Parts: sequence; structure tokens; C-alpha cells
Amino acid sequence: MTDITTDQTADDSSATPPRFDDFGLAPPIMQALADQGYVHPTPIQAKAIPIVLQGHDVMGAAQTGTGKTASFSLPIIQLLMAHANTSASPARHPVRALVLTPTRELADQVAENVKAYSRHTPLRSTVVFGGVDMTPQTAALRSGVEILIATPGRLLDHVQQKTLNLSQTEIFVMDEADRMLDMGFLPDLQRIINLLPKQRQNLMFSATFSPEIKKLAASFLDKPVLIEVARSNATADRVTQVVYRVDEEDKRDAVVHLLRGRDLKQVLVFSNTKIGASRLSRELERHGIKAAPIHGDKTQNERMAALEAFKNGSIDVLVATDVAARGLDIAELPCVINYDLPYSAEDYVHRIGRTGRAGASGDAWSLCSDKDVRLLADIEKLIRQKLTPVELVGFEGRSARNSGDKNHAERSERPERSERRPSDRGDRTASDRPRSASAPAPRREKIDPWFLKPYEPSEPAQAQTEPVLSKSSKTAPPIRRAALLGGGGNKT
Ligand code: AMP
Repeated sequence: MTDITTDQTADDSSATPPRFDDFGLAPPIMQALADQGYVHPTPIQAKAIPIVLQGHDVMGAAQTGTGKTASFSLPIIQLLMAHANTSASPARHPVRALVLTPTRELADQVAENVKAYSRHTPLRSTVVFGGVDMTPQTAALRSGVEILIATPGRLLDHVQQKTLNLSQTEIFVMDEADRMLDMGFLPDLQRIINLLPKQRQNLMFSATFSPEIKKLAASFLDKPVLIEVARSNATADRVTQVVYRVDEEDKRDAVVHLLRGRDLKQVLVFSNTKIGASRLSRELERHGIKAAPIHGDKTQNERMAALEAFKNGSIDVLVATDVAARGLDIAELPCVINYDLPYSAEDYVHRIGRTGRAGASGDAWSLCSDKDVRLLADIEKLIRQKLTPVELVGFEGRSARNSGDKNHAERSERPERSERRPSDRGDRTASDRPRSASAPAPRREKIDPWFLKPYEPSEPAQAQTEPVLSKSSKTAPPIRRAALLGGGGNKT
């Protein structure tokens, strides 16, 4: 990479919004967009599509949820239309575009999108990822596909088994490059890049641009155009962030209280550990809240089933770790809850970016105990915003309950506290270990969260004295359903 050109397209919100018709896409692609109900490209699409169509390398700064999949899939399909043919011969359908993703879920979702956008063309696509039988993947590869979506490990398995030839790849996409590096895929990536023809177009997308990412970009992008969409902090403007001050031992009850209080549907709860996610999910189930965990120890089929159940509304809460959630194409959720504050402040931005998209408002609630104080300070520094912890109105934690009960009878009825500690410790890696608990406690302020909500002129006037978390409250906001997986057709 010799230099980087920054896309100079003005972000003029007063101008007529761009339309997909402006890009000169082929009629079968326009038909697919009409099927999806898309009319206006998202900002990343408006910027990336013309640049990819011109054949430039791209370095795209965008997260899942911005429409980035279509920003590369649509121009790729358009560029490959020149090769589209209906021949039955596999030789006439070599892999011409390779999309690498860090997780199976993301691979699957990108593949669903590519299938939807190319459905009226003769172009073929398939997806290969680990954790499932290789045989059907091999059969699909053998019959020939122009667009291949893959996770790095399984892709290399196929290369080794000689079921895949990448020598005619013209376009290479690296999606969520930062997460690829986090997950230790760098050696695999280098191996894969070496298998590709030297002459090709490269597109790299990453939510963050660390020095490592820039180094990787420099190693394989050629004069890339840098495309950035509104920074994540802009997303945060539409999200009402509330940090609740709770004792560590009260966090599970606090999640139940929050979920019950608003009768919330389609909530993504983040846990820092796999065991923590499973336990919280079980605890929610015990309280009659339909929940499922999603994390790296779950099989691919279990993850897919949980996601599908969340999508179709048969469960209301998905309890996820960051790695598992990163690949999920879940947009416009009404609410995310941080059961744990993340160890990396950037993950906080990713998490809350799951809500408040596309002009919609969303809630991001975080539980903060004494041990989370330093993590909260890191987050505040990153987002340049003060997040003062407040009391959770109407919630009485265990210590408060116990102090009001002279006999402390309840303690003996609740064994989880002592049972929980060893495994919670064991589930964390050394680098994940929570930081010192001796940090100063955050200032406590009793603020009713109602006052932290953005002004909503369409809402009827409400009695401000009523606790906002009252389950029976007639003033509770209407439940907003998420837009999930593959756009319009899949919206619940
Ligand atoms: P992505 O960032 O690619 O994961 O996309 C997030 C969600 O937005 C997916 O559900 C897409 O189907 C949907 N989407 C992508 N592009 C558009 C568009 N131009 N208009 C409406 N929805 C879109």
C-alpha cells in the first residue's frame, strides 16, 4: 500500500438522499433490492458501492448493522455479472470473489445476504465454516460457485483437501478484520492471501483501525480508498445509556427486575464469560423469562437454533458473549443490557451499537458493581461522556433485604453466592481477569431513569411520580421488534 485516499463524498444531509437507481446496477440486482424493500442505500453503501464498482481497493470503517454487507456484496455481484452463465459445467463457475469472516454466524449471514441479492442472476454462491460436516460443503464447491463466503480455518481445510481452487479469485473481502486479528487468525489470513492471484481487488472492513489493522492493510491493500461512516459515537447519541449501580451479587436479580419491569422483548444481554452467559440464561428461565445463551462453547446448531428462536420471538432474551454476538446480524434492538461491563471499552461501543440504529432510539443499560468501576472509567474516556451510575429504582438488592431482616433467614436459602464464585473465576482467562476492586466507588445518585429518556413529543403527558419500571404501567413504551437477518423479508 503506497497511500490511502480518503473518500471525499460530502455528508450533506440536506441533499436528496441517494437511491439505488443511481449506481447503474443490473436489473436482476435492482429486482432483488426491490424484493428486500430497500430503496435508499445506507451511508456506507452510498460511499462504497461506486468506489468498488470502479475497481478500487477499499478500507472501510464500519460495523455490523450499518449495511456494510450490501456495500460490498452488491458491487461484487454487479462486477461478476460479466461472468454470469447458466452452464452446468463446474469449470464455468470458478471462485471469483472470496469473502472471509471471523465467525460462523457472520459467514452464514453474509451468505444469506449474497444469496438474496444474487437470486435473480445465474451467479452461484455458497458458505463454508467449521463445526459442521464438510461433505455438503465439498459437494457445493465441486459443482462450482462464483462467490464463496468462508471462515479462515475451514477454508484452509478445503484447500488442503483439494476441494477448492482460489487461483481465479478476482475480488477478496476481509470482513471484520479487527475481530479476525483478535481471534488469532493472522497466520491463516497470510496463508490464504498467498493462495490468491497477485492481481485482484481487495476490500477490507473493520470497526476499529488499530496499528495492527493498519499494518495488515498495508500488507495487502493497493492504494485503498478509505471509507468511513458516522463514528460509533454518533450511534450512541440515539441510545439512552443508563448505568445502574448494583452489588455484584445482585446482578442477576437486577437483570430480572429490568426485564420484568418493562416486559421487554428481544433484549440482548452481554456477559463477559461463557459460564456467566449460561448461568444467567438459566436464572432468567427459572424466573419465567424465555432466554437462551449464545457463546463459543455452543455447537453451531445450538447457536443457530437460539438465534432463530430469538428472531421468531419464541425467546425474548439472548445472553451472549462479545465474540458470539459480534457476528450476529441483529439490528435495531430496542434494548441491550450489559450484565458485565466489557473488559475492552471498544466492545462497549459495539454492544450499544446494537440498538439505536437507523434513526431509532434504543436503551443500553449497564450494571456496574465496585469491581466494574475502572472499566466504566475506560468507557467514559473512550466515548468522551460521563456515565454516572444511578440507583435502580424499585430494586432491593440482597444486602439491603438482608440488612432489613434481623435473622438473615434468606441467606441460608440462597446457596448460589458461595457456589458461584470459584467457577466465575475459573471461566476467565488471565487477561480477562477483572481489575482491582479497590478502586473508588462511583458517586451514587438517585435519579429516576425516566428523566434520562430523550424527549418524545408524540407521547401523552405522563405522571412523573410514577416509577418508570412499574410492570403494569400504562405509560410503558411500545415494544419495538428488531429487524433481523437479511432485511425486509425476515423482519419480525
Ligand atoms: P449489515 O450491516 O450488513 O449487517 O446490515 C444490517 C441490516 O440492515 C441487515 O438486516 C440488512 O438486511 C439491512 N439493510 C442493509 N442495507 C439496507 C438498506 N439499504 N435499506 C434497509 N435495510 C438495509
